[in-house]
Amino acid sequence: MTDFRMTINGEPAAADASFDVVNPASTEVVAQAPDCGDDQLEAAMSGAAEAWCAWRLDEDARRQALRDAAEALESSAEELTPVLIAEQGKPVPEAMEEFTSGAAWLRYFADIELPGTPGAREPDDIYVEVVRRSLGVVAAITPWNFPVVLAMWKIAPALRAGNTVVLKPSPLTPLTTLAIGALLREVFPAGVLNVVTGQEPLGQRMTTHPIPQKISFTGSTPVGKHVASAAAAALKRVTLELGGNDPALVLEDADPAQVADELFTGAFYNNGQTCFAVKRVYAHTAIHDQLVEALTERARAARVGDGLLADTEFGPVTGAAQHKRVTGLVAEAVHAGATATAGGKPLDGLGYYYPPTILTNAAHGMRVVDEEQFGPVLPIISWTDLDEAVTLANDSEYGLTASVWSAEVERALAVADSLECGQVAVNSHGLGVRPDLPFGGWKASGIGVENGLLGVHEYTQPQVRVAP
Ligand code: NAD
Repeated sequence: MTDFRMTINGEPAAADASFDVVNPASTEVVAQAPDCGDDQLEAAMSGAAEAWCAWRLDEDARRQALRDAAEALESSAEELTPVLIAEQGKPVPEAMEEFTSGAAWLRYFADIELPGTPGAREPDDIYVEVVRRSLGVVAAITPWNFPVVLAMWKIAPALRAGNTVVLKPSPLTPLTTLAIGALLREVFPAGVLNVVTGQEPLGQRMTTHPIPQKISFTGSTPVGKHVASAAAAALKRVTLELGGNDPALVLEDADPAQVADELFTGAFYNNGQTCFAVKRVYAHTAIHDQLVEALTERARAARVGDGLLADTEFGPVTGAAQHKRVTGLVAEAVHAGATATAGGKPLDGLGYYYPPTILTNAAHGMRVVDEEQFGPVLPIISWTDLDEAVTLANDSEYGLTASVWSAEVERALAVADSLECGQVAVNSHGLGVRPDLPFGGWKASGIGVENGLLGVHEYTQPQVRVAP
């Protein structure tokens, strides 16, 4: 029986109140999750603060604990995959990948070196050294699209640097995170990793709580702005990984048949519910029709169904609100002159199913182009002038990732130089999303980065040590 209690100061914790968790494949309630009470949040915060005193001191113990956590996460993958599917909807291979990828992140940060500036005596005999200190308690808040991986993106560097963590998943997908908290009670000393769940205002209570020194938030841009305000009020450190409306520019020399498959995966993996998914395609008129045809064929062949079934490629959209939003955005675009060459309306029957949808004749001014759709719909915009296409690609409040597709890598890299985003890939999408490379957004896509050495630095304070 999976343990869906919170983890507070190393102990399992049920709550006085609870809330429903709904399976998007059936729309049925699959379980109740605890709604964290005020006293319980206090206990988690003060337990984390107390645990920090010892945890910050022993680097070797921290490295070993992260390796043990990776081991535990991997060995629980088979047991927890159905839990993840029941709350999030994704198919089995993608659910399994969250565990293997989460373990890779833990191992990467277990092994990373955190060099300071080595201590040295200067010619005038002053000793100077720069070290990195952990900050204290980190409030970590995650969204519902990748509950496991995105939690590990925070836990691994925060703990490696010597901080302790209070983690809160989205109330749409709390179960897997609760189960992982239970699993890791055996791995981390009490208080090092706390997992609390609840509906709002739990996130607000965490970000305005006096104990955390740092807030690490992944979620939407509107909520990110509230988090930034809360952090500013108390001058807390903050990392914000927010929304994206990521463009893919396909140049006239790209081979549509070759790029269509990878573009399709870049757009529709996890039903398009990926912050860095391709969300708008700008296709040169010379290859536009062929590209549309290839993408349409791929979309029509997609197998949509319950994530638990063996041949499912795309599960349901996660939650009623997202399903309604995608349905509305597509209907509105079609009304304004776009054409759905594949998909275009929700599937009949129970469950929040929406088929992969390709929209042609899409244009700026349609919300599905201007906003982050975060669902299985891909608008395609044709162009003839490259400068105009680049201007349109940058015409967004967001700037998370982008990609450029061309037969000539050098030419594509030159185009990439003009794009306003945190990562840009050539002839691929998302290739740079790895534990060792900084990931973060430009403009309204965020502040700061996760991953790599720069990501760990965001959980530290540089400290200068000098002595005569
Ligand atoms: P959301 O902003 O609605 O919620 C994110 C988290 O914040 C949840 O845990 C939620 O309960 C909590 N929250 C809600 N109100 C809060 C408040 N006032 N204070 C503190 N916490 C609060 O986002 P979502 O719908 O869960 O996730 C989808 C969004 O996340 C998309 O915009 C997507 O692009 C973004 N995202 C970004 C990245 C990235 O790395 N840039 C990765 C994944 C998802």
